[in-house]
Amino acid sequence: MHQKLVKHLIFPVHEKVIGRKTFDYLEELERLQWASASELGELQFQKVKALLIHAGKNIPFYAKRFRDAGFDPAKMQNIEDFKVLPMLTKKEIRENLQGMTWCDCPGGLQRYNTGGSSGEPLIFYFDRRRQAYDAAARALTHRWWGIDVGDKEVYLWGSPLEITKQDRIKDFRDRLTNQLLLSAFELSPTQLRSYVERMKRFRPKCLFGYPSSIDLFCRMARQHGYDLSRLGIQAVFSTAEVLYDHQKENISATLGGISVVNGYGSREAGFISHECPSGAMHVIDPNVIVEYVRDGHPVGPGEDGEVVVTHLDNWAMPFIRYRTGDVAQFDDKLCTCGRHLSIIKKIQGRTTDFVVTPDGRWQHALSLIYVVRDIPGVVQFKIIQEAVDNVRVLLEVDKNLFPEDGNSLIVEGFKKRMGKDVDVSVEIADEIAKDASGKYRYVVSKVAESDLLGRGVTRAKE
Ligand SMILES: [Zn+2]
Repeated sequence: MHQKLVKHLIFPVHEKVIGRKTFDYLEELERLQWASASELGELQFQKVKALLIHAGKNIPFYAKRFRDAGFDPAKMQNIEDFKVLPMLTKKEIRENLQGMTWCDCPGGLQRYNTGGSSGEPLIFYFDRRRQAYDAAARALTHRWWGIDVGDKEVYLWGSPLEITKQDRIKDFRDRLTNQLLLSAFELSPTQLRSYVERMKRFRPKCLFGYPSSIDLFCRMARQHGYDLSRLGIQAVFSTAEVLYDHQKENISATLGGISVVNGYGSREAGFISHECPSGAMHVIDPNVIVEYVRDGHPVGPGEDGEVVVTHLDNWAMPFIRYRTGDVAQFDDKLCTCGRHLSIIKKIQGRTTDFVVTPDGRWQHALSLIYVVRDIPGVVQFKIIQEAVDNVRVLLEVDKNLFPEDGNSLIVEGFKKRMGKDVDVSVEIADEIAKDASGKYRYVVSKVAESDLLGRGVTRAKE
């Protein structure tokens, strides 16, 4: 489909029919991205105040929460005032779903769910307004990289659920709007050929998806002798997982030296931030308020804190001071691109991307990932910390390349980083299953998850 036709006719009509003001919001964001910091701050204050007044009036969960905290949103003087409210956890959302929604929401409630970082499902609702603001943020940040509304895009994406739901009507709609959805869940050497063929026919301008899946796709394609450097892809947009340097380099090299760009957000928390061509991860300040918190207190620039998000446009089910479980820092410097949108950096992904050592340290799982990645012939892997002193490593290996002492290299490497008291077992598997969402998680620490919930760590040797 011609890009201009999609941009100026099909997409706008589609959005109008389902009641989303995506294009109005996009115009608004186009202007606001160049606004001064004080204008952005004032806008955030007005938006959060309106949201909180609405929540106190129409949403029972928040009405009670405000009463308990002695908080009256109508009396807010500045943006800091609402931070007396407790932070919102996934557990509270699970337990209070009905009381957290606005039943009379114009346009109705759109139901969503996610596997969540702990693997437990989270159900929640959006309204049309939030969908439209997130879509507008996405369109805006795509433009930063020369990709406009209506340009052809491949999604390497999807939970099996979404794919099976994708009936012929949706398939038709995707083709009308120049999108091609390929299931990240089914990525395998047998699927590879069909994916490459479909991409060659489709000629996408950009590719969007989980970095682990795109990286795997690129490695598999190279291994099977496909040349992807002339597909015409101009940018890759990475989302939903931490984008590691080794993935970025591999993806870029495979696709002909193109930009691999990082985006950060989640289905429940929304579109939070995106990389600009000057290299900063800009927060979409008109849509979200982001706090960085440790032990209940805000951290300073350059210090690690949990990312706590208030989405300013989800009136159907407000997430006020929502704890994402991600760890990051903020930067108080100005970006050379000239935008005053605030900057987030060093997003360390889920707090569950850490392991807990027997002497109580939270160690970034990257240190273990590098041990495994260093060994030739490792095709895919998964590290599971079962107890604080027990770690299992699952490996898919190319037997021709994997060294004889591969297992013991891993055991030694892990003991060096975690302490000699840790039992490490290495198991060779034919295939390592992805999560239900179709994502790979390289590291699963049952100890970190339990520690985070305040249940304390378990030991295998007691
Ligand atoms: Zn910038």
